[in-house]
Amino acid sequence: MRIRPVTIILCVLLIGAVAAIALIAPDTMEAKRMLHIEQAATPTPTADVRSMLMITPDPNVTPKPTAFLLKNGVEGDEVKNLQRRLKELGYYSGGVDGQYGPGTQDAVIRFQTQHGLTADGIVGEGTRSAVYAQAAQTFIPTPAPTPTPGLLKKGDDGESVKAMQQRLKELGYYNGSVDGDFGGGTEEAVRLFQSQNGLDVDGVAAKKTFSLLYSEDAKQVTATPTPDPNAMPMLVNRDHPIDESYQPRDLVKLKNVIPSSVATVKGSDIEGDRTAVNAMIEMFKDAHAEGVDDWQISAGYRSYKYQKKLFDNSVQDFRNQGFSQTNAVSATRQTVADPGTSEHHTGLAFDINVPGTIFKGTPEQIWLHKHCWDYGFVIRYQEDKESITGYLAECWHIRYVGLPHSITMRDRNLCLEEYLGVV
Ligand SMILES: [Zn+2]
Repeated sequence: MRIRPVTIILCVLLIGAVAAIALIAPDTMEAKRMLHIEQAATPTPTADVRSMLMITPDPNVTPKPTAFLLKNGVEGDEVKNLQRRLKELGYYSGGVDGQYGPGTQDAVIRFQTQHGLTADGIVGEGTRSAVYAQAAQTFIPTPAPTPTPGLLKKGDDGESVKAMQQRLKELGYYNGSVDGDFGGGTEEAVRLFQSQNGLDVDGVAAKKTFSLLYSEDAKQVTATPTPDPNAMPMLVNRDHPIDESYQPRDLVKLKNVIPSSVATVKGSDIEGDRTAVNAMIEMFKDAHAEGVDDWQISAGYRSYKYQKKLFDNSVQDFRNQGFSQTNAVSATRQTVADPGTSEHHTGLAFDINVPGTIFKGTPEQIWLHKHCWDYGFVIRYQEDKESITGYLAECWHIRYVGLPHSITMRDRNLCLEEYLGVV
């Protein structure tokens, strides 16, 4: 049988192929064997590693070197880097130990909260890039929240003010608009509520005021009784001191009730008796109508504590000028009432002046001395009565005694001691 050339060519090719395989095969085999060894050498996953949840990489994005989540229980260099970075930014204060514990988790939550991320304490892609971003913010501690409903005072606004105004209106203490603005009118309503419900009167609605205001024990307003014209005015002088604990029952803050167009109130804390203050407003309005319009009120109610401070300060001033203690006290007594003997304690006395000038001789002083009597006020310390009152004349000090007493005192030229027959 004849061997065909095609068969010979096929045989040659076959032999060549076998030879080629024999040459290449050992490398391939070796590679395969190594792969098996490596796979066998990969450690059994530990609990820590198992907790690193694998992320499916986005095929369109080059995978980041760390494509797993950092969370509680994880450890390693990535955690160390994270801790170092959070420390740098002020969120973390623990050790840089590579252990992702509760401290690290809290720091991550703080970071996430401040950056508007989901505050889960787990560092995934979003948190990770925010942490390492140049725009990462340093930690700003949030202030501790104020306990309970808190406190409302003049200048505040909002729904809680509105609710309070509504309640004060229901009880009759407030007659302004329920607008959520805590202004002078609202402050007066709070003060009136406090004064009629046995609370300290400061016009600030805090815990005690709130709990009473919203309770069933909150009293309806009691109208201030019209002063009895037959009741004699209260006398306060050196021989008739007022009790240290005396508290006028219906004080208003002048700033809250006297329009600035009517008079300037020097100092926002000046208080006075409501009836007296209303009379004073009428008086100043009438003066304005006559073109006498530059009024300032520089003093009103003075507590015992405040009187004592004034007295002690004055004595000290005289001591500093070289007076003996006895002489300093005597000199002080010429112009400053002993604590407990000041009419200012009644809430019925006020010091009036014209801003920036000496009061005596101004059109305001002259008008006041002529007309104050018509509104229930008297010029309490006059020159011709110094020996009776024991005070040098004070042209600026007016005292509310009410009508008709003031008219009688003017017409008969009597000071209060004379009028009450206690001389
Ligand atoms: Zn005075």
